[in-house]
Amino acid sequence: AKAYLDAMEKARGLNAYVLETPEQALAMAARADDKLARGEGGPLEGVPLGVKDLFATEGVRTTACSRILDNFVPPYESTVTSQLWRDGAVMLGKTNNDEFAMGSSNETSAFGAAVSPWLPPGWSAEEGKRKLDDARSAGKTPDGFLVPGGSSGGSAAAVAARLCPGAAGTDTGGSIRQPAAITGITGIKPTYGRCSRWGIIAYASSLDQAGAFGHTVRDCAVMLNSMAGHDPKDTTSMDIAVPDYEAAIGGSVKGKVIGIPKEYRVEGMSAEIDALWQKGIDWLRDAGAEIREISLPHTKYALPAYYIVAPAECSSNLARYDGVRYGERVAGREITELYENTRAAGFGAEVKRRILIGTYVLSAGYYDAYYVRAQKIRTLIKRDFEQAYAAGVDAILTPATPSPAFGIGEKGGADPVEMYLYDVFTVTVNLAGLPGLSVPAGLSSGGLPLGLQLIGRPFDEETLFTLGHAVE
Ligand code: GLN
Repeated sequence: AKAYLDAMEKARGLNAYVLETPEQALAMAARADDKLARGEGGPLEGVPLGVKDLFATEGVRTTACSRILDNFVPPYESTVTSQLWRDGAVMLGKTNNDEFAMGSSNETSAFGAAVSPWLPPGWSAEEGKRKLDDARSAGKTPDGFLVPGGSSGGSAAAVAARLCPGAAGTDTGGSIRQPAAITGITGIKPTYGRCSRWGIIAYASSLDQAGAFGHTVRDCAVMLNSMAGHDPKDTTSMDIAVPDYEAAIGGSVKGKVIGIPKEYRVEGMSAEIDALWQKGIDWLRDAGAEIREISLPHTKYALPAYYIVAPAECSSNLARYDGVRYGERVAGREITELYENTRAAGFGAEVKRRILIGTYVLSAGYYDAYYVRAQKIRTLIKRDFEQAYAAGVDAILTPATPSPAFGIGEKGGADPVEMYLYDVFTVTVNLAGLPGLSVPAGLSSGGLPLGLQLIGRPFDEETLFTLGHAVE
């Protein structure tokens, strides 16, 4: 824990942590030492972790990286993090994320962008360090650096920069798999219902799911074993036994049927992503898997459906931030003015945009045209996957992102849709409630990490760990 706290201090320019918790870390580590000395302790005893600032942590400021929760200290602990601490993990701090997990680059955070430890092609390490220190001392956005992805960008940057060996994140449309892929680490988003959402600040409740970042597939398996399990406090958490995920590592790939969905060969996909995908196919074939081309015909509607369903749910979930019950309050002459002032000052531009879209698609007259249609598309997307699995497919292999990491400030300025398009390979998985694993699979021509995504059957994370380990 001490070594990681030191590393965190030296790497503050990355803005990976929005809160460091050295006192908790050292106290938890000391308790872990005692247990280990007695020959006791859980599967994560003494393992230091970063926690996305979307998980409520008892007595520790939790903001979802929004100004509206500036001063919020939860009086309770999320189920997922309490299970990590139960198993001996040590909290190093809260990691940066896009505000309320809305974003693909960590640039919408009220604490400013998190920075990828991977430098833009051609930069030397010294140059990178100097520019980062300069930007930090000037209080400026480190333009020119690369994004770590989002929304769990701080968790990914922290693991990639060795500021923790693993981190907890959440994934609503790709927020674990996408940042993992472009920072060269591993990330698992389990099946919807596998982990409890209790105590996780809600973005889009029918899509949100907790998951883990690690250096290896095994690290993710061990973490997920601790995070998963039924919780009566979340009605969507499923009472299904959690298998020993670590035991799935090293399992045989022979005879597994891997689906390659032709609709994921999207227009404008770069040759190097195509080549990476082919490499993944070859690795699995060489390991004894059967490769089968499949069709998921409604894939092209996933992104528009997601960007209706997610904002609709967010507009409803974020109605609670009214300046009365908790968080920031900006006074007004009357209660409605207090609401307006608080929400105007407390939410950032992207969150406001999502609330506007969400209330629009839910309003009378538009509900059937947008929201109901998006839900119908969601059913069709789910059915596409069900048909592939019913025909014997064990898992599906796709690229994780359409390109390597982009630069801070490069996307999403005048045209927010440009940013939304970056989620093209990940949102289908959330719409269908399936598990997805992102594994590092190589470097781009510019030397930046690229990832492959494995999509599994519901509650079959084990196959993903087996296959992921074979390709990592
Ligand atoms: N980028 C997507 C969004 O902004 C997904 C974010 C997430 O998974 N939390 O909605």
